Amino acid sequence: MKKTTGTDRSVTRNWRPATQAVRGGTWRSEHGETSEALFLTSGYTFHSAGEVADRFAGEAEGMTYSRLQNPTVAMLEERIALLEGAEACRAQASGMAAMTTALLCQLETGDHVVAARAAFGSCRWLVDTLLPKFGIETTVIDSAVNEAWDAAIRPNTKVFFFETPANPTLDIVDLAYVCGLAKSRGITTVVDNAFATAALQRPMEFGADVIAYSATKLMDGQGRVLAGAVCGSEEFINDVLLPFQRNTGPNLAPFNAWVVHKGLETLSLRAHKQSENALALGTMIESRVPKILHPGLASHPRHALAMQQMDAAGPIFSFVVDGGRAQAHAILDALELIDISNNIGDARSLMCHPASTTHAGMTDEAREEMGVTEGMLRINVGLEDIEDLTEDIDRALSAAGL
Ligand SMILES: *Cc1c(COP(=O)(O)O)cnc(C)c1O
Repeated sequence: MKKTTGTDRSVTRNWRPATQAVRGGTWRSEHGETSEALFLTSGYTFHSAGEVADRFAGEAEGMTYSRLQNPTVAMLEERIALLEGAEACRAQASGMAAMTTALLCQLETGDHVVAARAAFGSCRWLVDTLLPKFGIETTVIDSAVNEAWDAAIRPNTKVFFFETPANPTLDIVDLAYVCGLAKSRGITTVVDNAFATAALQRPMEFGADVIAYSATKLMDGQGRVLAGAVCGSEEFINDVLLPFQRNTGPNLAPFNAWVVHKGLETLSLRAHKQSENALALGTMIESRVPKILHPGLASHPRHALAMQQMDAAGPIFSFVVDGGRAQAHAILDALELIDISNNIGDARSLMCHPASTTHAGMTDEAREEMGVTEGMLRINVGLEDIEDLTEDIDRALSAAGL
């Protein structure tokens, strides 16, 4: 396998993101295929016993077993790392595999984690339920208050864990402040960048240490596969994450890696166009509902900060109606174009009621504290014509009495 057109890593590293998205991490076989090959293989064969011994000893480069490396997965990992501006990346079976691996690989009994209150339901389960089972202390804070991060630090604090924008309240974390604070205290930041991706926000430029992804969302972007990734320094990935991953096996299947690799070619175009549609739709919805949570709108409490650290506000936002679950469900049931679905990042517009779906597993108190109310709806805005989307929302709001 040969590396891409430019085989010199020092040249390919310097390509700009748009180029990396279609060229980064292309390795060609002796056939010179245009599109990246799909290696559906679990194992590899060797010319000699000495060759395989050298590979296992780490003295020769090459594949040994697909839980350790696979060419198709490695191409995806290289492309994501180049887009993210990270030294290294390892793909994971899903976003939650990425979160679990990124946290468990570096934590041990007696450590303390400070995590954002507003988070994807399963991320909160890791913090509230899984980590404490292993004697890892956790503190959940309002991530949009800078001082709350300082106040939560203990002598044994090892990790800061947060999303920005956060699901589904669209809370924005001050990346420069929080990553800077963590650095000054020797704390590792783990940032879940699923809502933005490197196309819209690169947390490493603000000092983040580890980026954990659900690649199921914008990276695939077409609602096809579950996938995840963890990016970090070579030292973190090779010395901390890899020993955990190689022995526990949350690996991404080659076929799913190939699908995401294809998705990355259009990531930036999709992320920007979907952001544009989401801003237009958000502006229209804002005039009809009591509350909207959209970082691209001036009404968002951290709008200025969001625009400072993001290229665009992304395709996802939430809004709240006064009529609780009944009115929220009535809006969903009146939609004709936009699908009722809890997925996000898709090229199709999708809407869901977080309190009865993505965040249904939480206690009422935890949901309330997070701001996930019964009247909240979350929308992922896709690539459809904005006029059709506007008409659909207009009809659904009217049908629900708004
Ligand atoms: C979807 C999502 C996850 C989990 O990803 P999966 O690929 O579904 O496992 C984690 N964090 C955020 C912010 C998400 O939106």
